[in-house]
Amino acid sequence: MKLLKLQLYTKVLIGLLAGVLFGVLAGQLGFSDFVFSYIKPIGLAFIKLISMVVIPLVFASLLVGTSSLNDIRKFGRIGAKTMAYYLCTTVIAICIGLLLANMLRPGAGLSEQTRTKLIQSRGEESVAPFDTALKKPTITDILLNIIPTNPIRAFVEGRMLQIIFFALMTGICLGLIPSERSRPVIDFFEGVNDVIIKMVHIIMTLAPYGVFALISAVVADFGLDVLFVLIKYSLVVIAGLVLHVAIVYSLAIKIFSKQKVRTFFRGIRPAQLIAFSSASSSATLPVTMECAEKNLGVPGQIASFALPLGATINMDGTALYQGVSTVFIAQVYGMNLTGMEQLTIVLTAVLASIGTAGTPAAGVITLAIVLKSIGVPLEGIALIMGVERILDMCRSVVNVTGDASCAVVVASSESK
Ligand code: ASP
Repeated sequence: MKLLKLQLYTKVLIGLLAGVLFGVLAGQLGFSDFVFSYIKPIGLAFIKLISMVVIPLVFASLLVGTSSLNDIRKFGRIGAKTMAYYLCTTVIAICIGLLLANMLRPGAGLSEQTRTKLIQSRGEESVAPFDTALKKPTITDILLNIIPTNPIRAFVEGRMLQIIFFALMTGICLGLIPSERSRPVIDFFEGVNDVIIKMVHIIMTLAPYGVFALISAVVADFGLDVLFVLIKYSLVVIAGLVLHVAIVYSLAIKIFSKQKVRTFFRGIRPAQLIAFSSASSSATLPVTMECAEKNLGVPGQIASFALPLGATINMDGTALYQGVSTVFIAQVYGMNLTGMEQLTIVLTAVLASIGTAGTPAAGVITLAIVLKSIGVPLEGIALIMGVERILDMCRSVVNVTGDASCAVVVASSESK
């Protein structure tokens, strides 16, 4: 397991820094097109490779994990703790975001002129995709949707909650039938699980190159002028994210687990780096699972349940970002939000973040739901598109860290 430990971490970090440097050079010397055409595909190939293993990994490891859980009550307990942790940390994340945005008022100083300029700079990318986000199904639909009518379709379409549901049912039932019937099935999936983990290791040796390619493309694309105007807003989001990680996760680990806070942050670093460069908690999932099991000592049973679920529904970074962004956009449009409206933001951002897929830019799409809930103009999304990618990278790191912290806390509470 040295692969995911320090040696690889250092290489990935070097890849990241070299990517930043290369991207800046490409922007300055005018060879950004070369980076987009020839370097970026290397990064995309890396992302596709790790995404490739997500579904078989989730299914096989979850099935193997639950089949050895012969106590269904224990399973219910793990599920309840996981959900409670995810919900509480998400609410805290939004509150931190709202607090900072109200105190620091990042949108208050923007002139009418700057606002028009920002909207125009990203105008064509705005609004269109967000209309679809608003046609969200009801809570009943969402819950019903967790049950697949056709498990094969769930696999083909990559519907993570349905896959989790089917894997859990299969795993539980394997534990309920005679062992001479269940053993061959479990053995088979244990084999599949090992193969996939081997695959993750091999793919991870490419991580430094993938990260280099992804980051250089982001940096080469970055409009520094837009960043400058939005610097205050970006800093408020980033400060919120840092506070959330430093306070909430550190305290949770310290109070509710037997692990040292330092060990936790050191163990989860490889996953954070991949989340940062891929801006996707789903694509990072195989690495998060590996880090949780091998570096943080989380039992497979818990990691294989809590982490895929977290990568699908637990998005603290996204929720915090949505809180700050809503207040920011409202401030730019000169709207004063009442206490009731802020409460609405908390409620809708919890739901929006749960509905956000763990893929790049998913959070900015579901932001439309939050804006709409309190009548902030959707065009406001165009204001923040200039810095979207970099904030996406940062919030994905927090999303992944939150999932892992939950796995560690739940694992510790079960090991008494
Ligand atoms: N990219 C984020 C993630 O995968 C989701 C978002 O867009 O906020 O975790």
